[in-house]
Formats: sequence, structure tokens, C-alpha cells
Amino acid sequence: MFDEIREASGTFSCPSCGARPLWDPEAQQLKCPFCGSMSEVEMDRTPPAEYDLEGAPPARALDWGEQKRVIHCQACGAETILGPGESATLCAFCGSPHVLEDQSAAGIAPESVLPFSVTQQSAVSSFRKWLKGKFFAPSKAKKMAALGQIAGVYLPHWTYDSDTTSDYTGQAGHYYYVTVPVTVQRNGKTVREMRRERRTRWTPTSGRVYSHFDDVLIAGSKRLPEKLLSRVRPYELSRLCRYQPGFLSGFSAEKPSVNLAEGWENAQRVIDEEMRQLARRDILSHADEAQVSSLRSEHENVRYKLTLLPMYLSSFTYKDKTFHVLVNGQSGKCGGEAPISPLRVTLVVLAALAVIALGIYLYYRAGGRFDLDEIVRFANYVEIDF
Ligand SMILES: [Zn+2]
Ligand SMILES: [Zn+2]
Repeated sequence: MFDEIREASGTFSCPSCGARPLWDPEAQQLKCPFCGSMSEVEMDRTPPAEYDLEGAPPARALDWGEQKRVIHCQACGAETILGPGESATLCAFCGSPHVLEDQSAAGIAPESVLPFSVTQQSAVSSFRKWLKGKFFAPSKAKKMAALGQIAGVYLPHWTYDSDTTSDYTGQAGHYYYVTVPVTVQRNGKTVREMRRERRTRWTPTSGRVYSHFDDVLIAGSKRLPEKLLSRVRPYELSRLCRYQPGFLSGFSAEKPSVNLAEGWENAQRVIDEEMRQLARRDILSHADEAQVSSLRSEHENVRYKLTLLPMYLSSFTYKDKTFHVLVNGQSGKCGGEAPISPLRVTLVVLAALAVIALGIYLYYRAGGRFDLDEIVRFANYVEIDF
């Protein structure tokens, strides 16, 4: 059944004129750029296929349903996947015009896609609003940012499933109470009293915990720092659709720069963190406090898939440094980096100091106490609204 879907959607063209239609995020359909005809793409939300981590990916995992090309950015190293007839003159990640077509294969095809639902136009207005709010950014940098292009790119994400069993060692803490003499001051006299105090007795412990992990999501891109990506999350993953080449029409996709094995390394770190919490809870079921000192995990039935999530990217260069701005292609949430102007920060600090100095002046003028009438009179004089 899986292969049938791929075959049926292998090529798509406008039903009226035969041109290549583009994905329209607003209509959630394909739209022909020449005659305006709309055509549907099947939006199948049944769980997509996942592959065994052991061994090479099966041939069908490499099938994109149509011919793809890879372009390589000579400036930042990003590899972007394009469909037939699509071209890119600028790198979506750094804005460099030094992009070259590469002979490498597109690699593992995505199993599922979160189709773009934010239009380029609304991404641009979301970006402008964000830029307006960047009070500390130098106006020159703002101008550079406003000039930059904004491109819709599907970012690769790996998901991993695993049945994990972890053996742990640690310490179980049990509370006990002791009565100890203490010296205290009572009515100006030093007296000795007895006081009950809590202590913890630690004993070595070990055990085994088990958990099933479903779809541990790991970013497949090294181009954008995790800190930046997290600013525009979350994505509503229940809207993921089975991959169809039509969803990508008019958009590019990044070829994963974190490969399958590296992604699995990162996933194991996420899994181990959770297993550590489970081990702690396991100790706490028979102790008052817990410490986990070592953890060794075994993973079984590890399966993976590649998913594409929609993102609008813009970048600008200011003083030889590249800054990125992102807009979530599903929610429209915008986040990014911007340089800080030392001059603007200084002006704000000086203004704050002036306000403090004024407060102190008013305080002393009122004879060392805060005279509310005086402050209101002054506020009226300089037209400050409380
Ligand atoms: Zn047409
Ligand atoms: Zn680049």
C-alpha cells in the first residue's frame, strides 16, 4: 500500500494546463501559477511508516516520489533539496549567492510532512512586527534585516522509537531523627536545650527500569542553533501528513546535516535523561531521598523516520556577523537574533539614572520624605502619565 501511494503521487501537474502547480499554504491545496486552477493533495494522517535502525535503509525509504536536486552553499555549507524546475539563487540559511548544484543524492526521503499553513506574506508581516519590537537593535541593522529575503524551507527532523531498559546504581536515603543539645539565647541568658534534628542515612541501591519511547524528536539541522529553534516552537505534530511531493512544491527542504546515526546519539541522551528520572522515582518508591550514580541503557526495537517541519528563514549580515530570524510555518510565531546597539543601551541607562537622580532630588527637597503632592506636581509639569 505504501509503495502504491508513492507511485500514484509520483508526478503531479495542473489538471487544466499541465504546468507544475505550487503548494498554497492558505488554501491547503496546489495552485497553478499560470491558470490559477486548484488541485488537492491527499492529506493522510494515519501513522507513517518507520524503519529499523539496524542495517541500511530500504530502497523505498530513499524514494522522494520525483527527481530531486541538491544545491550546496559554499559560504555556510547548507545543502538544500529542490524539486524539478525549481531554482535557488540565494542560500536560504545565510543569504549567500554562492550556491552550486551538487551531484550528491537527496538521501532518505521524509515519511511525513507538516505542510506550510502560513503564507509568505503573513510570514513577512510577522517578521516586520518582530523587527519593530527590537528597540535595542541599531537602525542600520534593522534596515539590513528589512532588506533580506524570506524563504520557506522545510527543516528535517528525525524521530526515534525505542523500548529501553536501564540498569542503575545509586543511593537510597532514609530519614531518621536525633536529639542534640544546642546553645540558645533566652531572655538575654545563654541556655542549653535539647532539639530534634533530621538526618539522612544513605545506603547503596540498584535496580532496573523500563520505558517505551515514541517519536523522540531530534532536529536534523546543524545550521540553526537549538536555542534559536526553540524560540519559535511548538509545532502541532498531530497535523503531520503522510509525505506527498506536492507539499514541497514551491518550497525547498534542507538535506539533514545531522545524519541518522548522530541523530540517534542525540536521542539516546534525551532518553537517558528521562530514564534517570524514572530511576530516581524507582528509588523514591522505597526511600525518602534518591541519588542516581550510574545508568546503563539497552535499546530494543529502535525505529526511525524523517519528518519535515515548515519554517521561514531570513538572515542578514551586520558587522561581518550573520543573524537569523525564523518564522514558524505552521503557527506564524517569529523569533530571532539581532545585534544590540551599545549607544541605545547607554541612552536608556542614562535615562534611567536621570529618573533615579530626580527621585533623590525630590526626596531631599521635600525634607527627606516622599511628598506625593510634589511628585504629582512635577509629573504634571513634564506631562508624565501615571
Ligand atoms: Zn494551470
Ligand atoms: Zn549558506
